[in-house]
Amino acid sequence: ERIGFAIVGLGSYATGYIIPNLSGTKNAKLTALVSGNEEKRNAVASTYAIADEHLYDYETFDAIAEDPDVDVVYIITPNVFHRNLVERAFAAGKHVLCEKPMAITAEDCQAMIDAGNRAGKKLMIGYRAQFDPYNLKAIELIRDGRIGTPSTLVADHGHLLPLDVPKNQWRAKQEVAGGGSLYDIGIYNINGARYLLNEEPYAVRAKYHEGSGRPEVTVEEEIEWQMFFPSGVIANCSSSYLTTNNKRIHVQGDKGELTLDPATNYYIRSLKITDRSQENHHIEEIQIPNPNQFVPMLEEMAAAVLEDREPKTPGAEGLQDVRIMEAIYRAAESGEEVTIS
Ligand code: NAD
Repeated sequence: ERIGFAIVGLGSYATGYIIPNLSGTKNAKLTALVSGNEEKRNAVASTYAIADEHLYDYETFDAIAEDPDVDVVYIITPNVFHRNLVERAFAAGKHVLCEKPMAITAEDCQAMIDAGNRAGKKLMIGYRAQFDPYNLKAIELIRDGRIGTPSTLVADHGHLLPLDVPKNQWRAKQEVAGGGSLYDIGIYNINGARYLLNEEPYAVRAKYHEGSGRPEVTVEEEIEWQMFFPSGVIANCSSSYLTTNNKRIHVQGDKGELTLDPATNYYIRSLKITDRSQENHHIEEIQIPNPNQFVPMLEEMAAAVLEDREPKTPGAEGLQDVRIMEAIYRAAESGEEVTIS
């Protein structure tokens, strides 16, 4: 029997990527929808043949406790609502998959983890890149010593923020997004550095760039930061709402270097490894046919439930990134190096 997923929030990511990919899984299936917009809910329900008794809005959501077809609740709303919806899903006795960033503060993240533990249910954060064949290959190449000992990592993520697009309107608001480009896409630099290097930064430095000056935008649009790792690696990172779709992670070692560009696109990724220890700088471009990261991520949540084990990217993973992002903001505000406890 497949694990039933309720999707909470029927926005662009849920309808464009998650719901279509659920049909590609062996162990998961869409069984319920939660949305405040009746028209949108009915349209998705009719496309995916979800019966009326499995449709909820944010007032009736808690009744999902009595829905036997729902095992997992997947939260895909604007960031500020993650904590409350995750807590309500646990109170309803369901397992939870929650989008990144996990929540606005480390305190919120800890409360979500505690709620899951109290309920005895699984909590996973939707870090799709950790299930992406290209990123997994990059991890393997670094672990195999193919670039030697890593010394520098450079990671940049950016996209523009046109405010006529609904999904950008909440991203522009500090009280709904919780942070700007850092929380939205800079998080991929942080998570990527952590899984590629397999270590945790102990300190950060940061600086805000000047923004566009648009009055509707109350989050930081562009920020640059450094993360310092115990091995000596320094990661130079930026995130921006003023650059167009850059998603690059580059790791340099004493033998060669590796570039994921794009590193975190939905369907297009590229991985290049250069061996500089050879005179002719041997360059290899890795090709992986039909690499899908959504299906293995959804399968992992289903498997964690079926096998009664912790998922690969649990709440602690989401908490760690939020903790680092809070340190980055403190560093940008103070101009000082901030230690991560
Ligand atoms: P979106 O604006 O397209 O979708 C958000 C949905 O939540 C909308 O349908 C909106 O109506 C709904 N919503 C529910 N309660 C709301 C409220 N009180 N106020 C406003 N809207 C409310 O945004 P999105 O791009 O789909 O992002 C949703 C979440 O998914 C965010 O946390 C984002 O960071 C995350 N996300 C993750 C990825 C990824 O690759 N992992 C990609 C995109 C978005």
